[in-house]
Amino acid sequence: MLELDLSQYTKPEIDLIKKALASLKPPEKITVVDWVNKYGVLPFGAEPGPYSTNRAKYVEGILFEATNPRIEQLVIRKSAQTGITTALLQHFLYSIDCDPGPGLYVMPTEGGARDIIRERLDPLLMETKKIQDKLFFDPPQPKDNTRRKKKQSSDTLLFKRFRGGQLNISGTNSPSNLASRFIRYLWLDEVDKFAESAKESGDPANLAIKRTQTFKNRKIFWCSTPTVKGLSRITKAFEESDQRYYKVPCRHCGEFQVMEFENINYINDDPATAHYACLKCGSVWSDLERWDSVLKGYWEPTKETKRIAGFQLNELMSSWATIERIVTDYLVAVKGGPELMRTFTNETLGLPFNENIEETPINDLFDRKEDFDSQSIPNDVVYLVLGTDTQDHSLHSTLVGFGQNQETYVLDHFIIQGSPGEDETFDELEKIRTAKYRKQNGELMSIAVHCQDSAGHFTEQCYRWSAKTLKSGYKSYAVKSIPGNRPIFPRTPSRSAKYKGLTFYSMGSDTTKQMTFDRIKIKDVGKCYIHFGKNLSLEYFQELTNEYPKYTFDKRGKMVKVWIQRGKNEAFDCLGLCWASLYAHLSHYQQACSGTITPVQAVRKSSYLEKMRETA
Ligand SMILES: [Zn+2]
Repeated sequence: MLELDLSQYTKPEIDLIKKALASLKPPEKITVVDWVNKYGVLPFGAEPGPYSTNRAKYVEGILFEATNPRIEQLVIRKSAQTGITTALLQHFLYSIDCDPGPGLYVMPTEGGARDIIRERLDPLLMETKKIQDKLFFDPPQPKDNTRRKKKQSSDTLLFKRFRGGQLNISGTNSPSNLASRFIRYLWLDEVDKFAESAKESGDPANLAIKRTQTFKNRKIFWCSTPTVKGLSRITKAFEESDQRYYKVPCRHCGEFQVMEFENINYINDDPATAHYACLKCGSVWSDLERWDSVLKGYWEPTKETKRIAGFQLNELMSSWATIERIVTDYLVAVKGGPELMRTFTNETLGLPFNENIEETPINDLFDRKEDFDSQSIPNDVVYLVLGTDTQDHSLHSTLVGFGQNQETYVLDHFIIQGSPGEDETFDELEKIRTAKYRKQNGELMSIAVHCQDSAGHFTEQCYRWSAKTLKSGYKSYAVKSIPGNRPIFPRTPSRSAKYKGLTFYSMGSDTTKQMTFDRIKIKDVGKCYIHFGKNLSLEYFQELTNEYPKYTFDKRGKMVKVWIQRGKNEAFDCLGLCWASLYAHLSHYQQACSGTITPVQAVRKSSYLEKMRETA
């Protein structure tokens, strides 16, 4: 053994020699799972200390494939709270020590990338003792600002160098970074939130993948919480993989099973009663038993492909989640509507959300027509409203009756030809608004509330007409559609800046559109079901189904829902205005349902709130 006389060297030189000699040592023969359990640390989060795969046993199978030479791509479709990002960072540290190479880590935005470096990666690089002699920079020292500054000036935050490789970190909004170097390791994190295109350079994921083609032993990690079916990149990638699911044993009957939300039971919508029940024997698992089963689980592929391993993870596998919390989230989503249900499906189940946007066939709706109209109103109806859409050369109005539980009867659809600029047009509308309508039992009804859309070229006329009608004691409101998360009908009116002294009401149009869209689909007669009257034309149904929602990405890469119109949609808008009319005085409708006020009283009953509205 060669003995080195170190006495002639200074301390910094000795350190350098030691480091150089250490780097000549061959990498330790150790599996990735053993490595992370032996050397891994968790410097951040609620549970700092040594890293252990026991906290999330399923990551072992993923880490194994990350070092399996036969596997080229790993696709991880996951819910929140699965510990995957941490596991992948641990794998990166392992690769620095045992199998280094040039790498690229891509996040949706550079801001997000900076956050993950500051909060996760830099502390790991600093605290993981095993790799210190491989790093070519001083890891940042949070308590020592001068060192940190020095480090950042010589080695930017987004670039890390180590023996045998380097790591670039980029957002999808900087195509120059995505295309600059050849890379062997590629991490695509949160791919479902990637920009649709990296500026003019095309799909950012493809752009980055092209840089790996020179490496036969390349490794590509796809990782994301899914978003919406059809748009979800991670789902597309997962479908091309061998689609593995994690199976865990029942401690009572031994049956191995994938834990699905469908196997959770609870009583009377009470999350405290929620529990997981075995697929086979039905025995109840406590959270502790569930976590214990996860320790004994394994990944099972469901499809045959050679080089792409896919993993599906949901929160039921997570030791950070309880069944009670999962059910609480679910019940909130059920009440909250499609938007919250999308979040639950993505974040808890780790699945893409399938908004039921397939069309309701017009013929199906047309065939649903029933034998009633505005002079033979079904006796169940207790409340009448009118919704009017204003066009440049016509007014379109839908007359709707409500029974109990918002069961809806579309009684008639009126089209008045003529410009809303002409008095005669509004006179015609006034005739419809003040007319008496007859129930099948002979009882007469009047319209309780009327909402008229005031967008377009005749806003002032609509405001004036509304003001006139309100003055005479009737509830006829000029409304303005405002998109975004807001109530269907506001508590107070807005004052027009342009037409001084005139007021209007801001209607939450995203909510009314969603209501129309959802309620058309209801097939069971009863609560919220829509009945259609005998006079409605095929064109009416065409218009009713001409608007539908679609998810897309805005300029900043944020997912947004937009409403697509594929033709005339007046009937669709009119029904939205009917919901606004109903919600303008919901308590009156409820009183009409319970019989505390008669339909006639509902029309003219003036409350404190209305007085406020009229004088506002
Ligand atoms: Zn069992």
